[in-house]
Amino acid sequence: MNNLREQIKKSKRIVVKVGTSTLMYSNGAINLQQMEKLSFVLSDLRNSGKEVILVSSGAIGVGLARLNLTKRPVTIPEQQAIAAVGQTELMSLYSQFFYHYGHQIGQVLLTKDVVDFPVSRQNTINTFEQLLAKKIIPIVNENDTVSVEELDHLTRFGDNDTLSAIVLELTQADLLIMLSDIDGFYDKNPSTHPDAKRFDTIHAISEETLSLAGDSSTRFGTGGMITKLHAAQIVLEANKSMVLADGSDVTVLFRILEGKEEGTLFTKDV
Ligand code: ADP
Repeated sequence: MNNLREQIKKSKRIVVKVGTSTLMYSNGAINLQQMEKLSFVLSDLRNSGKEVILVSSGAIGVGLARLNLTKRPVTIPEQQAIAAVGQTELMSLYSQFFYHYGHQIGQVLLTKDVVDFPVSRQNTINTFEQLLAKKIIPIVNENDTVSVEELDHLTRFGDNDTLSAIVLELTQADLLIMLSDIDGFYDKNPSTHPDAKRFDTIHAISEETLSLAGDSSTRFGTGGMITKLHAAQIVLEANKSMVLADGSDVTVLFRILEGKEEGTLFTKDV
């Protein structure tokens, strides 16, 4: 077994990020099977002694489904209202699923200014530490009501990929596992280039690496590959590791933590 992958087995504190495409069917309905499986896998990892933090997207997608809307509205206030409905529904579902597997969750809503300002940053860290000490699974999202950038898909700032890297920094977690609709980082966009090749390991994010990220065109997602690479940059600067893997089967989390060669590993270690 690859030595770098062996190292991953030692990760004690793990941040897991799921994108909307992992939680929703392409027809716009909530993928309950996925949500339940994710809750099961994270609960079991917690049982095995790992500390887990979930960064979950999906508020708008779930809000659209709850309100029987088929299209994301254009105005920011409308999107924020839908996110407010969706976030509640999302947490309600997670709460039930995690409860079924014997675990309590706690909601943490963050904005960038909060983590940039030292006092509120420290408060955030304290909250995470308390939740984890009490074996509660924190579920994190951006506070959509006050953070406009998250919803403005033109700026692509404040997305949950970056947020999950910031959560790793705040909690000094060992590993970020980013579950996406793709099984890793490729040398070109695999959805438009069938001959694209997946990287097993990336040690640094250069300008050249960034140039390999093409556009994504998902229905709900606002991230794309570029924000995943930006997240990887933050993770590498913090001397931690990140794995980008396919979230269509969330049991991949078990395999990653068993040291199996799943997805693309971003690490400074050689
Ligand atoms: P999620 O919604 O899971 O956060 P996105 O759909 O935003 O994920 O981003 C993943 C998508 O990025 C892939 O499905 C693919 O279409 C696109 N992509 C662009 N360039 C690359 C690349 N070099 N390697 C892998 N995926 C890429």
